[in-house]
Amino acid sequence: MKATIAVLPGDGIGPEVVSHATRLLSVIADRYGHEFQFREGMIGGIAIDETGDPLPPETVAICEAADAVLLGAVGGPKWSDPTASVQPERGLLGLRQHFGLFANLRPVKTYPALLEHAPLRPDLLQDVDILFVRELVSGIYFGERKEQADGDDSYDTMSYSRGEVEQVTNVAFRAAQGRRKKLCSVDKANVLASMRLWRRTVVEVHEEYDDVELEHLLVDAATMHLLTRPGSFDVIVAGNMFGDILSDEASVLAGSLGMLPSASLRSDQFGLYEPVHGTAPDIAGQNKANPIGMFLSAAMLLRYSLRLEREAAAIESAIDAVLDEGLRTADIAGSGENAVSTDDFAAAVIAKL
Ligand code: NAD
Repeated sequence: MKATIAVLPGDGIGPEVVSHATRLLSVIADRYGHEFQFREGMIGGIAIDETGDPLPPETVAICEAADAVLLGAVGGPKWSDPTASVQPERGLLGLRQHFGLFANLRPVKTYPALLEHAPLRPDLLQDVDILFVRELVSGIYFGERKEQADGDDSYDTMSYSRGEVEQVTNVAFRAAQGRRKKLCSVDKANVLASMRLWRRTVVEVHEEYDDVELEHLLVDAATMHLLTRPGSFDVIVAGNMFGDILSDEASVLAGSLGMLPSASLRSDQFGLYEPVHGTAPDIAGQNKANPIGMFLSAAMLLRYSLRLEREAAAIESAIDAVLDEGLRTADIAGSGENAVSTDDFAAAVIAKL
């Protein structure tokens, strides 16, 4: 197949991991007979430096003309002054909003080869494989607000419409159908009106997916269940804020932030794919970054935007094989284990393909 992929490296370790991901995708294209065209654009801090705008119109145009977007990460100390008129993160939020990417998918899984360094008992982490589906463009982060910088009265509003809940839960149910057919919906229906609408709507949408087992958890209980029985979850769907918090909590199960990918999707096949981690200024430019989160994001791009399941699975198996052989970047090497560089780890994964 022919596909155009917009590539936005961003700042810090973004360009380091993105360059390996495009090499990885080129190898996939060669091996499986596809033609991928990469078109690079600026976003975040580097775009502010060059153009004054964290999301220049040329970058938006490149993404609009593409089948999918692969992004590194944005931000860093150089642009972190909160009083500055533009922040790098605006670039990312602008992209999500411009393209209406309402569903954020974040898979979290544990690797047998890494269990001994994990923060929970290895027996609890056996076979953890969770897919978070977080609503991304509504809820309390986008509701009406009042802020008095020096006053005593400020508020935010959590609001959801039936349509917003329906579209994200449809994504979650469909994902569950392709996995272990279990969906856990997280809300706070005992207290919040918007969350009672959430629960009612999820129950209604469930009628179309009777092959999927549905469970409801209140968000406070969910934080505990994630640590006491992480292996029992398949797909978890939640609103914007609860999904944000729970998926960050779950990210520690995998061992390192550097291992986790994400996809932001809408109803068609277009999507934005990026690792969960930021620009890691503490290790940027040192050839130390773990490229796994970026590589798994590239695999998600193949799976969700290009419908190339076999190719996506090939990347995932290559990563498993390299970890099984004992190769580790510094963030996942235990004390006494020799860490390899980003370049060496990436080369080993690519060689496996
Ligand atoms: P971070 O994810 O950049 O780093 C947190 C810690 O994890 C650091 O110790 C870092 O070295 C480590 N880490 C992260 N990714 C790694 C990888 N691939 N390999 C090895 N170690 C890795 O989060 P932060 O320090 O809170 O933020 C740094 C900058 O990144 C900030 O400017 C922040 O705004 C930005 N940020 C951007 C995004 C994004 O672009 N999506 C997300 C989070 C943070």
